[in-house]
Amino acid sequence: MTETPIWFQYPNFQWDKKHAIIIGGGIAGAQMAWHLCQAGWQVTLIERHHKLALEASGNPAGVISPKLTAKQSLGEDFYTQSFIYTLVQLDKLKQLGHKIMMDNCGVLQLTHNSREEKRWEALKKRNLPANFMQLLNEDETIKAAGINLNPKHPYKSCYFPNGGWIQPASFVRALVDHPHCKIITHTKALKLLKSKNNWLVYNQENQLLCQSEVAIIANGKDLLSFKQTKFLPGMPVAGQTSTVTASKLSTNLKTVIGHEGYLTPAFSCPSTDSKSITKHVFGATFERNNSDPLLNTASDHKNFNRLQQYLPEFTRNLTDISSAHTAVRMTTPDRFPYAGALPDKDFYKSNYSDLHQGKKWKQYPLPKYQTGLFILGGLGSRGLITSGFCANALCNLLENKVASEQTQQVLKNTHPARFIIKRLRTQN
Ligand SMILES: Cc1cc2nc3c(=O)[nH]c(=O)nc-3n(C[C@H](O)[C@H](O)[C@H](O)COP(=O)(O)OP(=O)(O)OC[C@H]3O[C@@H](n4cnc5c(N)ncnc54)[C@H](O)[C@@H]3O)c2cc1C
Repeated sequence: MTETPIWFQYPNFQWDKKHAIIIGGGIAGAQMAWHLCQAGWQVTLIERHHKLALEASGNPAGVISPKLTAKQSLGEDFYTQSFIYTLVQLDKLKQLGHKIMMDNCGVLQLTHNSREEKRWEALKKRNLPANFMQLLNEDETIKAAGINLNPKHPYKSCYFPNGGWIQPASFVRALVDHPHCKIITHTKALKLLKSKNNWLVYNQENQLLCQSEVAIIANGKDLLSFKQTKFLPGMPVAGQTSTVTASKLSTNLKTVIGHEGYLTPAFSCPSTDSKSITKHVFGATFERNNSDPLLNTASDHKNFNRLQQYLPEFTRNLTDISSAHTAVRMTTPDRFPYAGALPDKDFYKSNYSDLHQGKKWKQYPLPKYQTGLFILGGLGSRGLITSGFCANALCNLLENKVASEQTQQVLKNTHPARFIIKRLRTQN
């Protein structure tokens, strides 16, 4: 592996106490809490709602699947490693007796357009292991799906036998179930102030709520709402999922289907009158720069029209469509999350200002950070798999256990100062 440039290097951290405050009770905050508790830390997790996992991590079912590119790439490696990491972690949680609502039923990514066809052809040359990914022809795809999804235009597919779907809230509940994880709900972290060694967290009444040497911002769509994070580029992308009551035919679907969006096999969803109904979850819409979406029927129509377009046979006789969930994915310009220490941006700007002149990086000073302040966010559309992998790297960083090549690579890809450096490199 190439050496980490000086501006992405981290110092050795020394903490008086292994205690951290985590802001945000979605999958990012919960993963951070789990990893730190496993490493012997005490955690205080702050959530503004009355319970955890109500925003992006409140979707009734999300997909657990890697993301392959035609050629191997940094991005593909990151998603593949994240996927494998999450499968191992989920197994561990289940073995410990946690009840997680999920199904490793496999995921079929259909060749629904010419780009997917090209990707399928390119992947053929790569001989990936069959327990990770299989390239299926049209007949094999129908057999794996359990339904002929589109008789006029049968698809080939990439099949991920260990993929599936998960209810994120049940994942979050399992992750925070630890005696060293204290949860404070109904409480918004309004601002953060530094006093000597500690980060002071103020609540919505502007009263001091708690303090600690280490604070981790993991608050989803509001990642940029703090003075300390404002400089980070990020874009909110709203999304809605929908449900449809299963039909006799549709219950034959055996795997998750990926096209432009996704569709789960039928599973039992609790309904308001405490009976359970067998439904499919499908979606999701993408609305850039919308950070405050409301559930709406237009999005359900959009989701269903897409299903009809790609899976006409499947949608026959399906009529009872309803809105499932709407929320915001926080995205970054390069699609890698933010997982690391928050940089001192003024130090970066004044000390690395001549980067564009091409000086050797070894001639620059070590960077400065907002000591004790960390971030995990910008998880975009794949947070259910990337959050654990990134939380592991961030926990290793806090523990000064960064020797492994994999951890170093994750910390470099997700470094919160990477866009400052990019700008300094390209400015005239
Ligand atoms: C429609 C949709 C479909 C998706 N499908 C998939 C999928 O199939 N597979 C997949 O891997 N990913 C999927 N994702 C992405 C995934 O859900 C997200 O990446 C992930 O949930 C983000 O987790 P998070 O913890 O960063 O944010 P969130 O889950 O939004 O959690 C942030 C939490 O912080 C709290 N908070 C915010 N500000 C404060 C504050 N100041 N004080 C206290 N609390 C605060 C919020 O209330 C919230 O609970 C989907 C997302 C959406 C919206």
